[in-house]
Parts: sequence; structure tokens; C-alpha cells
Amino acid sequence: MTSASFWQATAEPWQPPSPTAQTFDCLIIGGGIAGGAAAYALAQAKPAWKLAVVDRRQIGGGATGRNAGFLLAGTADHYAVSVAKYGRATARDVFATTVASHDHIRAFLARYPTVACDYLPCGSLTLAGTPDEANVLAQSAELLREDGFNVTFLPSDPLGRGFYAAIHNPHDAGIHPVKLVRALIEQSGAEVFEHWPVTALETTPDGVRAHGPRGSLRAERILLALNGEAVHFSPDFADKVFPTRGQIFVTAAYPRRLLAEVVYANHGYEYFRQLPDGRFLFGGGRRAFASTEIGTDETPTAEVQGFLESFKDRHFPELSGLPIDYRWAGVMGFTPDGLPLLGTLPNHPQVWFSLACHGHGMGFSLEVGRLAAEMVQTGCPPARFDLARLKPA
Ligand SMILES: Cc1cc2nc3c(=O)[nH]c(=O)nc-3n(C[C@H](O)[C@H](O)[C@H](O)COP(=O)(O)OP(=O)(O)OC[C@H]3O[C@@H](n4cnc5c(N)ncnc54)[C@H](O)[C@@H]3O)c2cc1C
Repeated sequence: MTSASFWQATAEPWQPPSPTAQTFDCLIIGGGIAGGAAAYALAQAKPAWKLAVVDRRQIGGGATGRNAGFLLAGTADHYAVSVAKYGRATARDVFATTVASHDHIRAFLARYPTVACDYLPCGSLTLAGTPDEANVLAQSAELLREDGFNVTFLPSDPLGRGFYAAIHNPHDAGIHPVKLVRALIEQSGAEVFEHWPVTALETTPDGVRAHGPRGSLRAERILLALNGEAVHFSPDFADKVFPTRGQIFVTAAYPRRLLAEVVYANHGYEYFRQLPDGRFLFGGGRRAFASTEIGTDETPTAEVQGFLESFKDRHFPELSGLPIDYRWAGVMGFTPDGLPLLGTLPNHPQVWFSLACHGHGMGFSLEVGRLAAEMVQTGCPPARFDLARLKPA
């Protein structure tokens, strides 16, 4: 059973115009934020191109409609961990990618002031669940400031909820992810094929064809933006993309505002926010259930949901007994090194892909979309996220 998320349930009914063409300059398969951001970037760069976005479900039916709506800078790792993992220059570049992405979102919203995405420039708190994690946060804040990113280390829990320390990033935000992806696709002018599964690709002398039970579409080039489901689409992704489940619930509205920021805790394994209408969203639990939270099944489980409820009651006892109105799960795409994956499909030189932004696809979205659009035009994947980095030397 797949449950609709709060975002899918609260976005106004939306009916994109019926498609009129079957041949495109670029066909984007996958109508999540990766596909939507790439469509928008391509429309800016190549206004004469005919674009289409195809999805086996509705737009925002995948992880994009099933996340927490956090716009956080950086990856899931604390910055000191990223520096140790990738080296200073790469860690800084990756962080800068997410900062640029957020800037593009602000520019998009400023350009289209009537677009309503419930954007909340509320800042974020990253909370340490242990004294050791507090030390990592202190180091991370120092490294971030040295690298020019403006964050503040707080040596105690600013919420008074049993944590040990925090980083405050005033630039982070919250957003309604389904409204954002729809707006990007709408403004791109792409034709939209919903409930249109693609099951096979065929490279022909006149381009590439995407075949499925509802018909065939032809394009000069294709961008696959399938996230974790890429593993079902092509065996080429089997050892590179690892579908991983995440779970969330949303309570009924609480009458008092307890939280302003979006909050990440316990190395990002748990997260929460109070929504504009007073509801609380809690997500995570993946570290405690690492062996079951894998694969592409979007069914929430009693075990993880129960774990999240205990987390809520431990840190916010005043919320215990508040009804839970929405429970859902979504599937992220992970890679072996924690970074997104862009490149071209073997044997299909006109088929490109942009996948696997882990648990930070909203944070990476518009800049990775811009890089994907550039890759499709120039034929060069961005070095930082190129599939080539995962190939044995
Ligand atoms: C529980 C949870 C919480 C999260 N919280 C956050 C957060 O707060 N902030 C953040 O930045 N990130 C968060 N993430 C991660 C973020 O949601 C993802 O990184 C991002 O949405 C990925 O976008 P995407 O477009 O790559 O994938 P998706 O949104 O999954 O889109 C892929 C699309 O491809 C379609 N598709 C697949 N196969 C086919 C096919 N054969 N034919 C046609 N269509 C197909 C699917 O239907 C789907 O709509 C979270 C993820 C989860 C699961």
C-alpha cells in the first residue's frame, strides 16, 4: 500500500494541458525535482527546444512528493565529515552547489511572484544527539566559516529538547515540494505525459525512442531522472544506485508555535519541522532500521513509524496524544560515495541521466538541474558528479 503524502494531499488539483506532440528536442523521463529542474534550465538555455516530461505516475509522485520539504545546504554528512571524506576542495564545491541551488530557487520565485510554493526562509538547526556529535558540529561550523559559509555554532541545545549543541544556518528554508516541481515544469513550457511508464529505449538513426504501454515518443536526446527506480530501468545502475526508503508522519495542528526552523538531528537520521498551519512533521528512523529501509517499496512500516513516535514523545512530550493525520514513505537514490550521479548510458550516446541526490535532492535541485541541462547540450557531464568517478581506475 502506498499512502499519499501531506504534500500530495494538500497541493491544489492540477491538470497539465494534454500533450500535442510526439517528437521532442529533449524528453525527460521522471517528473520529480531532478526532471523538473532540468526542464526549467533547458527551457532557459534553449527556448526554441521542444521539451516533454514523462512520468509513470503524476508529477511529484516519487520522492519529490514524499520528502520533508527542507532546503538545506550541504550533504547529509556534517561538514567536518564531508571534508574528511572528499577533501576540502570537493566538500566546499559540493556545499557551494547547494548554496547556488537555493539562490536559483529564490531567483525563480522572485521571477514568478504569483507562484506559491509555501517558501519559508526560516533557517535550519542541526542538532547533536551526543557529546561526540557536538564536537563534530563545532569543527564543522569552524570549517564552514573558514570556507566562507555563514553559520553559527551554539554550544547548547537552543530548543531545550535534550540535545547537546547545534549549528544554526540562517539561509536554509522550507518549501512545499510538489508545488515547486509543478511550477518549474509549468514555467518550462514542457509537454507533460503523466501516468506514462517508459519500459524501453531504442536508439535509431533519427534519435532515440522511448517505448511503453501507452505508446512511443521520439526525441533527439533523453534525460533519465528516475532516482532510485533507475535500478529497475537499466542493469547499468545496479552497482551504482541503491534505492533506500525514508519514512515520515505529520500530526494534526498543534495550537502553539514551538518551532521556527527546520531541524535536522542525530547526524540527519531524524528531522522535524512545524508546518505553517501548526502541524508537526517528523521523519527518519533509518539508522535504527538500516536492514529493512532498502528497496523501492513505498509502504510505511509500523516499526519505523513507532520509532518516530517515540522520538517525538521523548523530545516533545506536549505532542503526545496529538492525532497523526498522514504517514508515508518515499524512496531515495543513494550512490557509493554520497554524491549525485550524472552521465550517459552505455550503448545509448543520446541518453543522459541525472540521479540519486540522496536525502538532499531538494537542496541540490536547481543547480544539479542546471548542470544536467548543460550536460545534455554539451555532451560533457559535470566532473564532480560524473559517473566516471565510480569506475575502477
Ligand atoms: C522520506 C524522505 C524525506 C526526504 N526529505 C528531504 C528533504 O527534506 N530535503 C531534501 O532536499 N531532500 C529530501 N529527500 C530527498 C529528495 O526527496 C530526493 O532527493 C528528490 O526528491 C529526488 O528527486 P528526483 O526527481 O531525482 O526523484 P523522484 O522525485 O523520485 O522522481 C523520479 C520520478 O521518476 C518516475 N519514474 C520512475 N521510473 C519510471 C519509468 N520507467 N517511466 C516513467 N517514469 C518513471 C517516478 O514515478 C518519479 O516520479 C527526502 C526523501 C525521502 C524519501
